[in-house]
Amino acid sequence: MERLIRRSSLADLYEKVSAGEHLSFEEGVRLYQEPNLTAVGYLANLLRERKHGNVAYYVRNQHLNYTNICNKFCRFCSFYALPGDPRAYTLSPEEVRKKVLDYLDIPIWEIHMVGGVNPKLPYNYYLDLVRIIKEVRPSAHLKAFTMVELYQIAKVAKRPLPEVLLELKAAGLDSIPGGGAEVFSERVHQELFPLKIGADGWLQMAKAAHQVGLHSNATMLYGHIEAPFEKVEHLIRLRELQDETKGFLAYIPLAFDPQNTELDHLPPTAGEADLREIAVARLMLDNFDHIKAFWIMITPSVAQLSLWYGANDIDGTVVEYEITHALGTSSNKQALTRQQLLEMITEAGREPVERDALYHHISDPTPNSHQR
Ligand code: SF4
Repeated sequence: MERLIRRSSLADLYEKVSAGEHLSFEEGVRLYQEPNLTAVGYLANLLRERKHGNVAYYVRNQHLNYTNICNKFCRFCSFYALPGDPRAYTLSPEEVRKKVLDYLDIPIWEIHMVGGVNPKLPYNYYLDLVRIIKEVRPSAHLKAFTMVELYQIAKVAKRPLPEVLLELKAAGLDSIPGGGAEVFSERVHQELFPLKIGADGWLQMAKAAHQVGLHSNATMLYGHIEAPFEKVEHLIRLRELQDETKGFLAYIPLAFDPQNTELDHLPPTAGEADLREIAVARLMLDNFDHIKAFWIMITPSVAQLSLWYGANDIDGTVVEYEITHALGTSSNKQALTRQQLLEMITEAGREPVERDALYHHISDPTPNSHQR
């Protein structure tokens, strides 16, 4: 065992991680309390390399946000707008078609589409969005609608959730992104997002999706008012559902950006916290294949480091990301080229491997690549 681990409080965890055992709640809390972050990262990297060796994944993807109108008023959100606000918009299915057509010359494996909870949208609107995207770009995997949106879609459909999920799937929905989980704590739920489904609702939606054959990701929003023990509870509940359904593809810790939210008195997360979230997640979620570092939230530099702290995926080229930068000064046209992603991973000392949405390796980067 490395001297680094022996000198930390984590020596006993080394044995459990090496033996492939689930870590307990108390051990999860210790991972947050351990002052030596490098020791936590070392343990996480053991598991990361056992699963993926030196490989780090990236994907060429497009993000679409079909509406920012939302009636949930989450206190951490800078994205939503009320009807009548000059920022408010809802894209028609034809406008969504145009956005997909705009990037048709770029090889894209995955389209990621989410939006606000706009109560005026009828059920057919969602089906039309899905059908149009698949019509324009049938080869792209469509990952769409957070659990919260799915709850709303089933509500306007006035039909049981499994039926609605199967209908969306038949229309072309391939998987679910996993946002909207926030933190599985009733205290945080009541304080920050009381109008939105809480932990039980989110987990029931995820389970229903997995049961009809739709994979999903899972997320956690950190860096606001949550306590470490609440984060450990969150991870353990995800791990339990994964043991049951095996339906989660990846876990993505989402760093809270307080700018332009009701919580703008809070500081943004720092690199130490971002890396710790990745490392703790890798160790607690040992039954998840993939831990993703979302570079757009934690910066490309921290994402590079995260590849040694448990992450094996840095997401993708990400065209037009709006969610955490809705009102900020930076442009919402945020993207890295494929070449930049390759360089970023290589510079970090890992082997870049392009993936599709289901983590199949892409060996032929397609003929119409413009290297954008
Ligand atoms: S986080 Fe989602 S559900 Fe909450 S206000 Fe923002 S868009 Fe609406």
